[in-house]
Amino acid sequence: DVVAYWMRMEDLRICDNRALAQASASAIKDHVPLIVFFVLSPEDYVAHDRSPRRIDFTLRNLSVLKDSLAKLNIPLHVSLHSQRRTLPSYVISFLQSVNAIRVFANIEYEVDELRRDINVCRLAKDNGILPSFVHDKLIVEPGLLSTKQGKPYTVYSPFQRQWLSTINSDTDNFLAEGASPKANPPSVKSCPVFQKLFASEVPSYVEGFQCPDGDKMAVVWPAGTDNAREMLRRFLHTKSRGTHLGIADPLDEAADISEKQSRAILYKENRDRADKDTTSRLSPYLAAGIISARECIRATLDLLGVKKVQANRDSGVGMWVQEIGWRDFYTHVLAAFPRVSMGRPFQEKYANVQWESNPEHFEAWRSGRTGVPIVDAAIRQANTMGWMHNRARMIAAMYLTKDLMIDWRLGERHFMQQFIDGDLASNNGGWQWSASTGTDPQPYFRVFNPYLQSEKADPSGDYIRSFVPELRKVFGPEIHNPPAKLADKLGYPRPLIDHKEARDRALRRYKNPGSK
Ligand code: FAD
Repeated sequence: DVVAYWMRMEDLRICDNRALAQASASAIKDHVPLIVFFVLSPEDYVAHDRSPRRIDFTLRNLSVLKDSLAKLNIPLHVSLHSQRRTLPSYVISFLQSVNAIRVFANIEYEVDELRRDINVCRLAKDNGILPSFVHDKLIVEPGLLSTKQGKPYTVYSPFQRQWLSTINSDTDNFLAEGASPKANPPSVKSCPVFQKLFASEVPSYVEGFQCPDGDKMAVVWPAGTDNAREMLRRFLHTKSRGTHLGIADPLDEAADISEKQSRAILYKENRDRADKDTTSRLSPYLAAGIISARECIRATLDLLGVKKVQANRDSGVGMWVQEIGWRDFYTHVLAAFPRVSMGRPFQEKYANVQWESNPEHFEAWRSGRTGVPIVDAAIRQANTMGWMHNRARMIAAMYLTKDLMIDWRLGERHFMQQFIDGDLASNNGGWQWSASTGTDPQPYFRVFNPYLQSEKADPSGDYIRSFVPELRKVFGPEIHNPPAKLADKLGYPRPLIDHKEARDRALRRYKNPGSK
């Protein structure tokens, strides 16, 4: 007999992993070995627009995990099953083949995943295997917070207030570290079934998801929890050297915290600066669960030397904690309103907004050739790094939906297919916010002026110069909106559209959804 932990794409870590910790405790109690298995599911990746970068990142992390688990005598079995429809029965056959008596997993809140796991539970019980699905991804699990009327929150600020007071009412529980799994007895290795398991290697790619820039991604986004912790340390304890762009320098000299100049301490002032490396860049690690959100929050308590979580908008660390709160919020929304993960606007009244069907414009946007430098820099940053600064995401998303008037779902899909940190809830939340169709949205009449946004997000122009080589020699205000003659000379495209006219069109169409 064995106890099994089913690891999935959102919980690629050993420490502070609730399902794994419970599986380990159960194996120890029952005196049976613990095994970990992971099933690659290419049809799911197609259906969910998973990027080759994300799949490659998953495989790189599985390789690291395989070695770390082996040190604990816990085998990691990685296999591939092509048909998503039959995945539940595949999982059960696998569990039967290793004589599993229990299976543990962390809950994934997306509709397809919930349906799949309900099937797995049913089949497991039919076959005498006890399933346990555990909340782990968020600080506060979906369903725990509600308005005075008992409804799910649809606006962030009141959600955040209750989120924070709930956590602080019982920090030991909400921030508790899942106990690390204990080493399995060495006899595991001599058992024939485990011999077979040990033979499974982590593949270097999944057919259809080969990552063309995998070598670069491995440098920019190194795999493993140790590297995620290094990113966290870098954010909390070191200064931004203002250089950033492209590859982050993890070897920044440690800053003296008493100087109060670390990225975390100055996050409030600097977080919207796309031209500086001022944010944590932890999103790929949080999205894949390589580090837990609990660990991030616990680290803020240590940094400030306090016992209660601070989410005060007046301080850098408090603002950052609020961003982790947004991650919880959007997943709560996804769990409470499954329509948002089915391509529908949260605000149904905007279901009929008339979108432009203009393949040339969409192509120009997704290749970073709109003629608006900040938008092009943002898209090209994503195309080269698999990641984009938050303010740049907002600007690029709003430009697609309000200026080009192209359906937000196309942009949402493109981001998922490019990003290494693609997360359905946060990506959908961000797109619906920008398109003014979501919960707690930007009201439709607030349309970003991309040129003014550019001056605020990239006052030095370094961001644009880094990612738009045609403009590398342009300095001063012209970088934000190069005059036509200069653009022509430098081989940089002219703007696709006049911002003011585009804005008027957007206002008309949002005011009367359905009208042209
Ligand atoms: P930091 O500023 O250091 O924030 C710390 C962490 O908080 C992030 O790593 C992330 O986990 C979380 N966070 C921060 N901002 C948000 C937010 N607005 N919503 C939800 N969580 C947040 N984030 C993703 O993780 N995956 C996505 O696919 C994604 N798509 C987005 C699409 C659009 C259109 C927009 C506007 C935002 C999107 N975001 C997404 C949110 C945000 O842009 C990124 O989380 C952030 O830029 C990551 O950089 P960082 O790790 O340095 O963030």
